Amino acid sequence: MSIRDNLIKIKNTLPTQVTLVAVSKTKPNTMLMEAYEVGQRDFGENYVQELVDKQAQLPKDIRWHFIGHLQSNKVKFIAPFVHLIHGVDSLRLLEEINKQGAKNNRVINCLLQVHIANEETKFGFDVAEILNLDLIDLSQKYKHVRIVGIMGMASNTQNSLTVETDFATLKTLYDNLKKKNPQDITILSGGMSGDYEIAIKYSSNMVRIGSTIFGERDYSS
Ligand SMILES: *Cc1c(COP(=O)(O)O)cnc(C)c1O
Repeated sequence: MSIRDNLIKIKNTLPTQVTLVAVSKTKPNTMLMEAYEVGQRDFGENYVQELVDKQAQLPKDIRWHFIGHLQSNKVKFIAPFVHLIHGVDSLRLLEEINKQGAKNNRVINCLLQVHIANEETKFGFDVAEILNLDLIDLSQKYKHVRIVGIMGMASNTQNSLTVETDFATLKTLYDNLKKKNPQDITILSGGMSGDYEIAIKYSSNMVRIGSTIFGERDYSS
């Protein structure tokens, strides 16, 4: 199947309130353009240099999502144009995004990354840490960032019960934050190729899908 067919097939199964971010990391511009030509505008990338290059070369109405682990010293490269940073995993990083937002005269949309999976390796805040944050206070302190929701990655397992538990945890946290701050908290980013249907069942309204659209990634080349 072509990228076009894959994309249309996925889009047809998504509820209307769910935004599809096409995860195009490691894929060439020609492939992104195939998706663009059937109307895809939200693209997700994990590597700063790759994102900067693609942004310079591709149409300017693309909304670029940074979904990888972001190092503070690289925020400045994406701050001029990034649409949404999904993986904010420390207050230090948030502070740097604010600083670069100010330099670029922008308010940069951010999602706090929540550590929901069992695995040790995943980045993010713990649920308890997020519940202890005073988001109102942060938004007054940091005028050039807007925390618009949370992002999580479920455990990498075939056991769908574990994945359900992870997304249920994410949903509970999202509902809690949204209750306190309904104007700002609007995005729950959860779900990738293997688990987005489950994520949507637990209220995810932004899915990040790569390999099901563009094919498996080949990191060796
Ligand atoms: C690569 C990546 C995805 C997409 O993964 P697929 O399994 O190819 O859909 C989604 N989210 C994050 C954070 C990623 O790094």
